[in-house]
Amino acid sequence: MIYDVGDVRISALGGCQQVGRSALLVQTRESQVLLDCGINPGSSDSLSAFPRIDTPPFDLSTLDAVVVSHSHLDHCGFLPFLFKYGYDGPVYCSAPTSNLMTLLQLDYLDVADKQGTIPPYDQKDVRETVLHTIPLRYGTVTDIAPDVRLTLHNAGHILGSSISHLHVGEGLHNIVYTGDYKYGRTMLLEPAVAEFPRVETVITESTYGAPQDVMPPRGEVEERLTAVINQTLDGGGKVLIPVPAVGRAQEIMLVIDGYMRRGLMKEAPVFIEGMISEATAVHTAYPEFLAREVRNSILHEGMNPFQSDYFTIVEHPSAREEIVDGEQCIIMATSGMLEGGPVIDYFRRLAPDERNTIVFVSYQIEGTRGRKVQKGIGETPIVSNEGKMEIIKSRMGVETIHGFSGHSDRRQIVNYVRRLAPKPERVMTCHGERAKCFGLANFLRRRYNIEALAPEILETIRLR
Ligand SMILES: [Zn+2]
Ligand SMILES: [Zn+2]
Repeated sequence: MIYDVGDVRISALGGCQQVGRSALLVQTRESQVLLDCGINPGSSDSLSAFPRIDTPPFDLSTLDAVVVSHSHLDHCGFLPFLFKYGYDGPVYCSAPTSNLMTLLQLDYLDVADKQGTIPPYDQKDVRETVLHTIPLRYGTVTDIAPDVRLTLHNAGHILGSSISHLHVGEGLHNIVYTGDYKYGRTMLLEPAVAEFPRVETVITESTYGAPQDVMPPRGEVEERLTAVINQTLDGGGKVLIPVPAVGRAQEIMLVIDGYMRRGLMKEAPVFIEGMISEATAVHTAYPEFLAREVRNSILHEGMNPFQSDYFTIVEHPSAREEIVDGEQCIIMATSGMLEGGPVIDYFRRLAPDERNTIVFVSYQIEGTRGRKVQKGIGETPIVSNEGKMEIIKSRMGVETIHGFSGHSDRRQIVNYVRRLAPKPERVMTCHGERAKCFGLANFLRRRYNIEALAPEILETIRLR
């Protein structure tokens, strides 16, 4: 196979025209840098579950550095595999990403173990990853490869999430890789950074890149969640919120605590199970990364909203029965897409009762169990704790609340590209369903008269 040669090129190894297994290889005259190395949680066969590091242009033996944008597994879940196969170089990310990434990778192994599937690496490889990780501060320029300098900036997506700015050569080319980002305010984080010393190519995620992907204003979204919770509790039901351990969980905690304290949401115990408590502890350890209000509250007012009296951490699965049989309550549990974790057991127990409601607050990847339940498929096969297949007939209410996302919606993506300073020459779309990547690229090309591409997996684009 012949690849387009040039001084700077980028190859899509995963996460292009799809959401999941993000991985981009940047090749320069002297360096090879991998941006993200994720898994696809919606897929099980290895050709579609993992990045295409099995074939050229990727070559593990010449890789200089890996940059991880944030700790979600679709961006770092495959990283330890590189160490298993002999990678010995550095991994760069923010300090909170380093902590959270380890938690999530170990959880991934734990979930695989409980489901009886064989993960592509083990704990020893996660440890190796930790030993090779170099945490960077936002805004600090670092030489990461012979002719590549990296600067991380706040991406507003989850704690520690970063936009990566790569400066190649001495002024040869500048790449901005957004990773997942939020160009808007949330309770948890400040909006993504949009100003750089230079930028020629920007690579943007497109999760919510379709014209109809416009989220309602935050206030409305919070009120909608409050209404659904109040209605369910008033009707004698329980609310189940599947949440990814990192990001949406903490955002929803802030909303619930704030609304209950102000008397707008019916007071009820909130049970939290899964890795959420560990992940929340990492948030508390890095208040300087949080939005101003939460940061001030923790640092100067001695009030930590994550440790609110409304919240009870469920330490052991044996407590579930009592919770499910008890008074009205709210349950937040992992995983966010019903792919495993304690939420499955709660779903099994709560699904048959029509008074209960399951509320989706995060993106459900095509192919996941969460997506199927969200679409209203009433029968869900689940492997029970005893390893038997069980069909859950769901009668509970299903609600999806759009707008809590840590991703930019269509308007925010377009605004981001428009306001990027300086104006880029080229935009590439990734991390979105096929039609969204193409649609967004076409729109940006016409609207801003810039080169716009939606690369496919194993395509190499010459940047310079
Ligand atoms: Zn993410
Ligand atoms: Zn992602």
